[in-house]
Amino acid sequence: MMSMKRIGLFCSGGDAPGMNAAIRAVVRTAVFHRMEVVGILRGYKGMIDGSFRPLGARSVSGIISRGGTILHTARSPEFMSYKGRKKAYEQLKNTGIEGLVAIGGDGTFRGAHRFTSEFDIPVIGVTGSIDNDCWGTDYTLGFDTAVNIALDAIDRIRDTAASHDRIFFVEVMGRKSGMIALWSGLAGGAEAIFIPEVREDLPAVAREIVEGRKKGKTSAIVVVAEGEEEGDAFQIARKFRKLTKLDYRVTILGHIQRGGAPTAFDRILGTRSGVAAVEALRSGKRNMMVGIQNGRMVLIPFSKMWNRSKRPDLSWLKIAEMMSI
Ligand code: ADP
Repeated sequence: MMSMKRIGLFCSGGDAPGMNAAIRAVVRTAVFHRMEVVGILRGYKGMIDGSFRPLGARSVSGIISRGGTILHTARSPEFMSYKGRKKAYEQLKNTGIEGLVAIGGDGTFRGAHRFTSEFDIPVIGVTGSIDNDCWGTDYTLGFDTAVNIALDAIDRIRDTAASHDRIFFVEVMGRKSGMIALWSGLAGGAEAIFIPEVREDLPAVAREIVEGRKKGKTSAIVVVAEGEEEGDAFQIARKFRKLTKLDYRVTILGHIQRGGAPTAFDRILGTRSGVAAVEALRSGKRNMMVGIQNGRMVLIPFSKMWNRSKRPDLSWLKIAEMMSI
């Protein structure tokens, strides 16, 4: 075991429910092993500015049930430059920080990888991302909560849609990843799911929905991943009306999907990931991400993750189609 005395902890990039559970676990595991934890506010930005605050076991009380992150998160253009990273390293050195736990997404780990190849400081990553698009882990922290929020909204929309015999387009988060759309759509019994990974065949979906009406369906829900731009669902819906002459409603769920209490799954994943991250630092591991595979915690070197993306299982689209017969 390495005798690491003081570690730094930060969140970076997009926030995700469950980050607080991970923060709590990192702090308490470290305290258990008589290590000190310095909380770095607002990710790499705070690292450069020296926005540090000590974290003890009591400073993480009552946060396991809260979404967001008590350490705040930010994006830092300055960290993209060598000058910015050097400044960050100097701040860490001056504070006596010997290792880092980074809670964030793909971009955060890209930055960490670059940082550790230039300066001698070990980093262990915990994936906090609602998108579940991170290669090497079955689930990213926050995904389960986001899916369940989207699902709850879809269920509510189904009630009103069925009462009015209406067609709804529900837009969920996912610029490059259709994971939330696929999961919430399949669980919510969506008539169709549009994701960025697959070119949509709107005429075919329109035909199915018109056919469905003839077969006695009282509502239809099309789940749309936001794609490049929020509001894509409006464009799709307008095209749909041109094809079918049918009326529709659009609901954009937006940032509602990021907030609120994390699910049990995300609290446990956050807790296990935080513990694994500190244990990894203690055993001399560096530059790796904590992931979960088949229910077990694993460590994946940052270098293995680059240029690999996790693709959703596209056979789920076929299942959704079959289920909406
Ligand atoms: P996420 O971690 O959620 O994917 P971002 O992609 O916005 O979020 O990345 C978070 C931060 O990580 C960026 O604001 C930047 O400071 C840092 N970062 C991302 N990519 C790099 C890179 N190639 N080199 C250095 N820093 C990076």
